[in-house]
Amino acid sequence: MRAIIIGGGPSGKFGATALKMMGSEPVVIEKGFLGGECANKRCIIEISLAEYAISLDVAEAMGLEPSSTSFEDVMKDLRDFREMMRQFFAMQAKTSGMEEIRGEARLIDSKTVEVDGETIKGDVIVIATGSRPFLPDIAGIDLKGVITYQNIIDMRELPEEFVIVGGGAVGASYAYSFNRFGSKVTVLEGLTFLSQEDHDLRSYAMEQLENRGINIVEGAMVQEVKGNSKVESVIAEVNGEKKEFSADCILFATGLIPNSEIAKDIGVKIGERNEIVVDERMRTSVDGVYAVGDVTGPPFLTPVARREGWVAASNIMGNDLKIDYSLIPHFTALFMDFASVGLTEEEAVKKYGKDNVAVLMMPPVAPYPLGNRSIWLAKHDPKLTGMLKLLVERKSRKLVGAHMASYSGKNALHYLAALMKKGFTIDELAEVIEVYPDNDLFPVMAKQMLGMV
Ligand SMILES: Cc1cc2nc3c(=O)[nH]c(=O)nc-3n(C[C@H](O)[C@H](O)[C@H](O)COP(=O)(O)OP(=O)(O)OC[C@H]3O[C@@H](n4cnc5c(N)ncnc54)[C@H](O)[C@@H]3O)c2cc1C
Repeated sequence: MRAIIIGGGPSGKFGATALKMMGSEPVVIEKGFLGGECANKRCIIEISLAEYAISLDVAEAMGLEPSSTSFEDVMKDLRDFREMMRQFFAMQAKTSGMEEIRGEARLIDSKTVEVDGETIKGDVIVIATGSRPFLPDIAGIDLKGVITYQNIIDMRELPEEFVIVGGGAVGASYAYSFNRFGSKVTVLEGLTFLSQEDHDLRSYAMEQLENRGINIVEGAMVQEVKGNSKVESVIAEVNGEKKEFSADCILFATGLIPNSEIAKDIGVKIGERNEIVVDERMRTSVDGVYAVGDVTGPPFLTPVARREGWVAASNIMGNDLKIDYSLIPHFTALFMDFASVGLTEEEAVKKYGKDNVAVLMMPPVAPYPLGNRSIWLAKHDPKLTGMLKLLVERKSRKLVGAHMASYSGKNALHYLAALMKKGFTIDELAEVIEVYPDNDLFPVMAKQMLGMV
């Protein structure tokens, strides 16, 4: 079985690795670099910048001399690191014996791909072409100084007045980092800032970010970018009133659009959001053609893309496997990890009824500094103890939502998600013997608050 995989991002690379492990000889066609957008322009860049900003926070809270490293030096380090990562991925592909072709692929039919005039034939094709930034069609969008996440890694100077359009996970994280580096940051969000978060966590994030001087404007519909040779301001309608926000750089963090155009030539069904329509086994409408990752639409998350690559590989090799999108954890990199899995309080109350949902929160019931490093943040500002929230369905005593703002605590979330899938209860959580000290205090919280459920 020879599979041709178009795209070497998390979905394609993971799919190829799985196929190789299962005994197939996949070939990956990549026009850029293995690791895809995630490693080269997105996740690693955004998270590394937040990590750097947090380190400055922690150093300052510990009373250490904050690093004299400039923004320009940090960006250069990141570019050097990206180079190292590219070499690592290339070496990894070589040692695993995975065949890689560098070039842009075009589909000829359901078994044939063309790359730079060369024709390649396979038994099946996996489309893993990812997504690109979505930009609103407004005046001034082409002006110099208007950027997307794709340009961040190439930034040479710190913007003075940095406007970020979009207050989702990406916009919020860059707002935190650039404010920490010294830019004057404004976030313009059309609806609600960090709308996917539970309201208590969202309020906590907003309060802390605003305290740092970030101007967060909700209900701001951006209409026009103004400037001559370069951006000077952005116009937005805020609650029916036109407002102008001056800027020397504007980041549009306004979402992603799937790169599905490649599939149109062979008649693959495309959905309303430009996504390739797939079934639970990642099969498209054309026999023998699979699609995985961002190109199939949201949720746009690397672990989801990887899983889809795995599911496609399994089905290609004759092992029946379906994708399961339930209880997927997500996180936003701010001054702490904001990580969640399951229902928000609003969703839990809607689903189970107010009387049947126990809301456990910390603080205020048990506010104290958490584990390593966060103790220094809390000493600096008691509000930086973080926040934990558990939602329990009273009748079954099962956990239905877990939300945390915690220094480096997010890694607990994927295990909690797996346990929640199996029906984990608050009583079982209370039995967990945790490592100490740690920034995941869910087990401690369960022990202390068991009586409230
Ligand atoms: C700023 C930002 C930060 C993010 N941070 C996180 C995070 O912290 N955690 C998380 O889970 N998710 C994060 N995401 C989402 C994550 O980046 C995506 O879900 C993930 O990259 C999807 O992987 P993919 O394989 O589908 O696509 P991609 O990573 O986009 O890879 C697709 C690859 O296909 C190649 N390609 C496209 N067309 C062709 C063609 N015709 N021929 C050959 N090659 C082609 C491209 O060059 C690219 O390398 C972030 C997204 C953004 C925008």
